[in-house]
Amino acid sequence: MTNFVLVDFDDTLVDTGPRFRERRDALFSFLEELGFPRAHAYRIHHEVVDRELLGIWGYGPFRLGASFRDTYLRLCSEDGRIPEPVAARRAEALADGIDEPPPPLPGALDALARLAAALPVAIYTQSAFPTYQTRCIENSGVFDIVPPSRLVITPDKSPESYRAALRSLDAGPAERSCMVGNSVRSDVNPALLSGARAIWVDAGDPWHADLADPLEGDLTRVESFPEAVEVLLPPAPPSTSTPR
Ligand SMILES: [Mg+2]
Repeated sequence: MTNFVLVDFDDTLVDTGPRFRERRDALFSFLEELGFPRAHAYRIHHEVVDRELLGIWGYGPFRLGASFRDTYLRLCSEDGRIPEPVAARRAEALADGIDEPPPPLPGALDALARLAAALPVAIYTQSAFPTYQTRCIENSGVFDIVPPSRLVITPDKSPESYRAALRSLDAGPAERSCMVGNSVRSDVNPALLSGARAIWVDAGDPWHADLADPLEGDLTRVESFPEAVEVLLPPAPPSTSTPR
């Protein structure tokens, strides 16, 4: 039985990923125009530059401009080309606006309100920038439903941080908790490794760094957050006293 529900924020309640993807696509098109093959630019961005910058900046929007500029510079360096400052600035500018708060996904806040009326709920989210992340959550309207005292921001979602979140929320044993989130790597697997139930909101087209195979455990896959709430709060069975 589930006594406490932890809900992820980005790409579970709000639409974060597509805004990143659109900008990365624009970068790869721009680099292609400069003569850098798309597949190669993609690999250098994803496997070299973004990986390095994740170690410095962590998750969130603030590494994007730097990673765009550095991808261009890295490709020039590999090709023996002299980088053009104007092109480097244009690459960086393709990330402009990414730090604006992401909009809620359809039906997500209504479903969150329904869930919070029935069960204790907390927002459990990953960011290296707690002030920025708190502002995004505030702008989304989530604090009208789940109070700021039920917000846990962690720089990294691991089984240890999942259990630490439960302790800080005084949420009881992991086995009685449920994690709802879009990331197998960050939401589902750490919860399952902690003995918790997990609901994977698989909206398709995941971010490359979120890719992982789900572990064995109490796991349900759904396609949206409202569907996850349907799983947690099944409709009451029809009354047996209904006249025939
Ligand atoms: Mg997420």
